[in-house]
Amino acid sequence: MGRRMIFAGNWKMNKCFQEAIELTNDIISGLDDIGEREVIIFPPSIYVKEIIDKCKNTIVEVGVQNIYYKKEGAFTGEISPMMVKDVGAKYVLIGHSERRHVFGETNDDVERKVKAAFEYNLNPILCVGELLEDREKGLSDDVVKKQVQEALKDISEENIQNLIIAYEPVWAIGTGKVATPEIAESMHHFIRKTLMNLYNDKLAQEIPILYGGSVSPDNIKGLYSMNEIDGVLVGGASLKSKSFLDIIHVDR
Ligand code: PEP
Repeated sequence: MGRRMIFAGNWKMNKCFQEAIELTNDIISGLDDIGEREVIIFPPSIYVKEIIDKCKNTIVEVGVQNIYYKKEGAFTGEISPMMVKDVGAKYVLIGHSERRHVFGETNDDVERKVKAAFEYNLNPILCVGELLEDREKGLSDDVVKKQVQEALKDISEENIQNLIIAYEPVWAIGTGKVATPEIAESMHHFIRKTLMNLYNDKLAQEIPILYGGSVSPDNIKGLYSMNEIDGVLVGGASLKSKSFLDIIHVDR
């Protein structure tokens, strides 16, 4: 059996409410028969409830871009996994490069959030990826391996089955400098080997690994033709229905 194929759109901190609703409607109405491909959108959390309602009875799933790891309490400005679950979102991005590099999230924070997501039956998309300076020093494998190992400390085999990983080299995010299909493929292969060492071959083969970083309708074909690339996490190009739909409808 092949792995799940996932096309995810991270809207980051963009769109007014009405624009977000229109984008959701346009994505839903523009989807052709996409077979077993899965579509997940990550709007700003403040819109999530309404967008989940719009997506009911469609194939589009909805997630949030971040959670805190506590259930509730005096944590001004944060949202908890319990709240996310309660409004019906199913997915959560964890460890996105902007969380790590703009907001200073550490591998420890990421580990706590992954654990919290599983505790509330949310499906995490764990984002990992090296900085340009790591790549230039030949440290990409070490950095990514550490991110994966630390995030998954104490995560059981049962939970891991609901994990998705996104390999997003930081130098490719929002820069227009997409990784070549060969670089992405070899990093995905390396991540899968890391999962194999942490768990076992069967589980490692089942976990979808998405590529993210300047994906567009112009470069999706090459990326998606690679065996180890099970879909994409799209930022900028997911903000317009046409480009997101063109990406989702790519031939393989
Ligand atoms: C992202 O936000 O996860 C991302 C990959 O952004 P972009 O596609 O704009 O590089």
